[in-house]
Amino acid sequence: MLPAVIALGSNLGDREENLRAAVRDIDALADVTVTAASAIVQSHAVKTTGTDAEAPAYLNAVMLVQSALDPEDLLPELNRIEADHGRVRVERWGDRTLDLDIIDFAGLLRETVDLTLPHPLAAKRAFVIVPWLQVDPDAEIRGHGRIDSLTVAFSDEVWLFEAAPLWTRP
Ligand code: ATP
Ligand code: CA
Ligand code: CA
Repeated sequence: MLPAVIALGSNLGDREENLRAAVRDIDALADVTVTAASAIVQSHAVKTTGTDAEAPAYLNAVMLVQSALDPEDLLPELNRIEADHGRVRVERWGDRTLDLDIIDFAGLLRETVDLTLPHPLAAKRAFVIVPWLQVDPDAEIRGHGRIDSLTVAFSDEVWLFEAAPLWTRP
């Protein structure tokens, strides 16, 4: 088993339930165990044209898992769970019911057409770093250092939506 960090996002449908269902589905995978989940944060949608305050706002959270699947095998499972929850890919950064990104997988580096690790934009995204800090204050992103020293760790672009953890072990 290796530790991985998965970011969850939703800005369509019952956003909170989409996130909660996704954690349950991931924990239900035979080879993946959820160990922690952050609170839920909210932020404006970011489109290819920039911040879009008119689009439905995003709810985001971060979860820590232990995975016996390699990252190459974890990603298709996450894509299947996205599809199960109504994810339809139309345009880059379009509105979606569920987005599941692998932020870090045991500090491994990957650079293939399907998978880049660590996630290349994570260090720039407050909606990833702020909830990640809640569940792992000592985390580092390979190539960027400690996440508590990143500028976006102090960003006011995200605000708390629900302070309770998205998930605790039933
Ligand atoms: P962004 O990558 O900027 O967060 P997005 O999440 O909206 O954008 P998607 O349409 O969900 O992008 O995914 C596009 C492709 O990204 C997926 O088909 C997947 O193969 C690829 N990908 C590469 N690296 C990763 C990663 N670390 N986690 C999830 N998907 C990844
Ligand atoms: Ca994403
Ligand atoms: Ca994605």
